[in-house]
Amino acid sequence: MSYLSLLTKMREYFASGATQSVEFRKQQLQRLRDEILKNEQAINEALYQDLHKSPEEVWVSETGLVVGEINVALKQLDAWVKPRRVRTNLLNLPSSSSILPEPLGVVLIIAPWNYPFQLLLNPLVGAIAAGNCVVLKPSEYAPATAAVMKKIIEAVFDSSYIAYVEGDGASVVPSLLESFRFDHIFYTGSTTVGRIIYKMAADQLTPVTLELGGKSPCVVEADASINVAAKRIALAKWNNAGQICVAPDYILVHASVRDSFLQELKKVILNFFTENPATCGHYGRIINSKQFDRLVSYLKDGSIYHGGHYDREQLYIEPTLLTEVAIDSPIMQQEIFGPLLPVLSYNSFEEAKSIIARNPNPLAFYVYTENRAHEKAWLQQVPAGGACVNNSIFHLLNHRLPFGGRGTSGVGAYHGKYSFDTFSHQKSVLRTPTWPDPALKYPPFKGKLNLLKKLIG
Ligand code: NAD
Repeated sequence: MSYLSLLTKMREYFASGATQSVEFRKQQLQRLRDEILKNEQAINEALYQDLHKSPEEVWVSETGLVVGEINVALKQLDAWVKPRRVRTNLLNLPSSSSILPEPLGVVLIIAPWNYPFQLLLNPLVGAIAAGNCVVLKPSEYAPATAAVMKKIIEAVFDSSYIAYVEGDGASVVPSLLESFRFDHIFYTGSTTVGRIIYKMAADQLTPVTLELGGKSPCVVEADASINVAAKRIALAKWNNAGQICVAPDYILVHASVRDSFLQELKKVILNFFTENPATCGHYGRIINSKQFDRLVSYLKDGSIYHGGHYDREQLYIEPTLLTEVAIDSPIMQQEIFGPLLPVLSYNSFEEAKSIIARNPNPLAFYVYTENRAHEKAWLQQVPAGGACVNNSIFHLLNHRLPFGGRGTSGVGAYHGKYSFDTFSHQKSVLRTPTWPDPALKYPPFKGKLNLLKKLIG
């Protein structure tokens, strides 16, 4: 079927009103959850094949996340869809005012390869909850996971409701957009491709959500609990071999605790991943040789304090700490998106701030400190999509927090109710009784200026 006929069928299906009822939406979410759980083993195997993820990691960061998002939507959908009453201004009395969330229509969701399952299906949950028809475009770089997701989606949904479209993004996405005007595009991936999508969407005045990347800084203050900081940073950084959009990209550690922090971090890496992470069974692999070569080329940008071993055939790169890294070296220019961690030291707040300001508006910002005043100063002075104090990446696991970037790290946010809002239009509704119907509001207006001034302004 051509894209045009597929999308025309989807438009007709949406227009039929089939997706409007809350019962329908809940049923679809339940069926999706059941099918995911039925395929849990296949999902685990696929993610092991694509990225060497362990079943525990898959549950926490992929399958469980989507199942949790579905459960939240099922529990709260009745409340989310309710029109929200707001007060009415004097001029409009005795009307009543409310905000009615309505589905956007037919939307496109495009996902990357690093969390290929949840980054495609988590937004889908919000889109279904809000009553939309959806075209899903998975990443072509995680083919085993893409194949399982296709099976799940096609088992649960008719393609006129939820369609699964695969292929090379650079040709598939423009073809889709040439055929059709989507009502929303939800894109997760690199900032470079995000710009391309934004331009294509602008041509059709299509609204977008862009979940992009960037260099997320992590500050370790002199008064931080070094042991806790090391454990939490290691957990966040080497999950999925560092291929996480919100991974701490580089560390800024206060010069007075630099050595003790480095020693502790090395100790933690050995505890978490053993002397030989290649054989520990729960350490990830790089997605492909292109990314592998890019990452290995960064090894020369600093001195290797720990790690540095790699194996191209296995797409394996050891958790690696780099010191003596120049701030204008290539590793400090682009998002690393892999298991290399530059550790830079700073002496003053201003010095650290000026390093962060070289890559403004990161997707996440992390600070480790025991001092509330320092914490406040950092949060106020580093604009970022999200932030954690004495933690890293876990903010994204709370569905009550909106997840998204700002500036070059993204436009818009989602998770939980925020996903529902992202895929809904907030329609303002004014309801006016036919009586009373004062003559004041109708022409002629001569002589009514003073009264109008009292009512308006
Ligand atoms: P990518 O931009 O290469 O690909 C993402 C998707 O875009 C894929 O489905 C791909 O097919 C499609 N695509 C590729 N080229 C295209 C083009 N020219 N036109 C239209 N579509 C195209 O991204 P990636 O390498 O797959 O992902 C890594 C990046 O994603 C990193 O920068 C990371 O920080 C970011 N990311 C962000 C989040 C977030 O939630 N903010 C999550 C994960 C990854």
